[in-house]
Amino acid sequence: MTVKNVDWIISSRVASASYIVPGSLTANCAKCGELVLVSPSTLEIRQGSHDSQFVCMECGFAMMEKDGSEVMELTPAQVREIEEYRGQPNEKSLRR
Ligand SMILES: [Zn+2]
Repeated sequence: MTVKNVDWIISSRVASASYIVPGSLTANCAKCGELVLVSPSTLEIRQGSHDSQFVCMECGFAMMEKDGSEVMELTPAQVREIEEYRGQPNEKSLRR
């Protein structure tokens, strides 16, 4: 899938994560340095957008409030990861 260029990728802090998507890596928040989780689907976004930087949710939402930047829609791979976490696969989104 083609992902338009993104400046910032907002991720959960490792310290506050209640679930870790299998295969996740970690990175440091570009603003505060906290360790954040980077799921495989998020890595896919990064591959299409090499200049993007990771920020934690706290810093990311504070930045959005300040500059009014837009949030990219979830990718199908991100939706699948969320559904796996919930344990309730959505038939419609899994169908290809
Ligand atoms: Zn941060």
